[in-house]
Amino acid sequence: MTAAPYLRLQDVGMRFDQDVIALESIDLSIAEHQFITIVGPSGCGKSTLLYLVGGFLRPTSGALTLRGAAITGPGADRGIVFQRYSLFPWLTVRRNISYGLEESGVPRADRERIVAEHIRLVHLEGFEDRYPRELSGGMQQRVALAQMLVCQPDILLMDEPFGALDAQTRRILQDEVRRLWLRDTKTVLFVTHDVEEAVALGTQIVVMSKRPGRIKEVILRDFDVADGDEFEANPRFTELKMRIWHSIKEEVEAMRR
Ligand code: ADP
Ligand code: MG
Repeated sequence: MTAAPYLRLQDVGMRFDQDVIALESIDLSIAEHQFITIVGPSGCGKSTLLYLVGGFLRPTSGALTLRGAAITGPGADRGIVFQRYSLFPWLTVRRNISYGLEESGVPRADRERIVAEHIRLVHLEGFEDRYPRELSGGMQQRVALAQMLVCQPDILLMDEPFGALDAQTRRILQDEVRRLWLRDTKTVLFVTHDVEEAVALGTQIVVMSKRPGRIKEVILRDFDVADGDEFEANPRFTELKMRIWHSIKEEVEAMRR
């Protein structure tokens, strides 16, 4: 007997209105510890796909299972980071990060230890008492990462988390997310519109078709990308990037017809 896939989407469809079919016939099996990046034309249902896995939305057809059990709602085993506004503006960095722990009744002493550890992990020492509005976009996303990581989810869902950041900050945060992933090898689903980011981070890259979104192809990255590497200079990196870019472009052009 073969084990059921860790995360499985079976013939998943999502229709919002009579005429808005966001996703159609999505079949996807994801193994544990993979870093999955998801790319596709704007409006093809990438965010919808993440929200379904997060349990924030219920599919209008098909089934989603995690470790063989149906996903019926949000859970502490899945954490999400959005492009913006993942933080509570009225709470300090420290309180934002400890929020999930307070909610789940973790005793104060443990909370303080865990929060301090995560503040170090995302390099925010000295900013504990600041409010989100007092931080740069990159720092806000570090807080959002820590806020999710303290709850130790098995699956990290990230919806264009670095999409609003400048190129340098984005590159630094990409390295950090890769390092965090290597450190405790969670399963990551990471949506991006940046093909270079998709190849730099993804062990597998999922390309979606134009709306109604379907899985167009799943590409295995067959070489390693390590921290500090000048992987952009690797011809295989460029080749894969171009291949994915062409695949998306095909979909965008089909939308115009
Ligand atoms: P992406 O993240 O790939 O840009 P989305 O998942 O946000 O795409 O949206 C897919 C499609 O579903 C779009 O056409 C969008 O307008 C539509 N959509 C998303 N959320 C809703 C909603 N709550 N109600 C109605 N339509 C929606
Ligand atoms: Mg989106």
